[in-house]
Amino acid sequence: MCYFLTIGAVTDPLRVAALFEEQLDVDVAVAQSTILAAFPTEDVVRLLTRGGCSCDLLELRASTRPSFPAEAVWLKPACRRVLGLAAAELGGLRMYLKSRRQWRPSGRRHAMTLGELLDWRAVVPTDVLVDVLLGIPVGEFN
Ligand SMILES: [Zn+2]
Repeated sequence: MCYFLTIGAVTDPLRVAALFEEQLDVDVAVAQSTILAAFPTEDVVRLLTRGGCSCDLLELRASTRPSFPAEAVWLKPACRRVLGLAAAELGGLRMYLKSRRQWRPSGRRHAMTLGELLDWRAVVPTDVLVDVLLGIPVGEFN
């Protein structure tokens, strides 16, 4: 069992395909209906895979902290960079990283700034729709 990374944005499907195929060397496919249901209906939703799954785009490490999931997931630098580029170019995007444990979307959402996405220390939440926002949330300037 593997991880599957799906992204969504309000844009032209060809633009999404071009961006990710060229920049990240992945296969871009229409997402399954179960995952599609987790995204807003206006989004173009695409599954990004390399060799049949998305594991190659990720760094997986066993977690030693009991309060954490058994495995923590990071985006590999190239993947993080291209997702950041895409978010900037498309005016924000959403992503859903499906884990091996859960096959049905949870319906939960999580917001992340572009800065947080680009931070190499950022763990990617799994089985939750992540909104990557370009703006800085109110309250960060103090
Ligand atoms: Zn895999």
